[in-house]
Amino acid sequence: MQRTLALIKPDAVAAGHQGKIIAAIQESGLRLVAIKSLHLSTEQARGFYHVHAERPFFNDLVTFMTEGPIVAMVLEGDNAIKRWRDLMGPTNATEAPKDTLRGQFGTSIERNATHGSDAEDTAAFETGYFFAGLERL
Ligand code: GDP
Repeated sequence: MQRTLALIKPDAVAAGHQGKIIAAIQESGLRLVAIKSLHLSTEQARGFYHVHAERPFFNDLVTFMTEGPIVAMVLEGDNAIKRWRDLMGPTNATEAPKDTLRGQFGTSIERNATHGSDAEDTAAFETGYFFAGLERL
């Protein structure tokens, strides 16, 4: 059993795609362990993406991630990290296949609708960043 953090980013929430994305998660067989809606502050978004602090797109990414509310979820299942990343598709939404969430709901390399942890250590950090232990039993 593995857990991963999934986010529905501000572009997809503003466009009203939350329901379709949550339905795709449940149809995939991943268990929705925890879910909440929140609007990140600049400081909170910078902390979440700290590994990207030196990247040229960091400030743009933080501005995007704070422009409106997001949905945060903890997903669980066998191989959950890879299964969720496969459902999302590649980072660049303009190159993502249309049967992936980013291909359907994203519009650019930045505005790509969803986030997923990329490894077990980042999944542990990211699930703990958004949810207290009692919220993800
Ligand atoms: P992910 O693991 O597929 O989300 O991709 P990364 O960890 O490489 O990047 C984190 C997020 O930064 C992506 O999901 C995009 O929203 C954004 N991003 C990645 N690459 C670029 C880029 O070249 N330009 C811009 N503006 N944003 C980017």
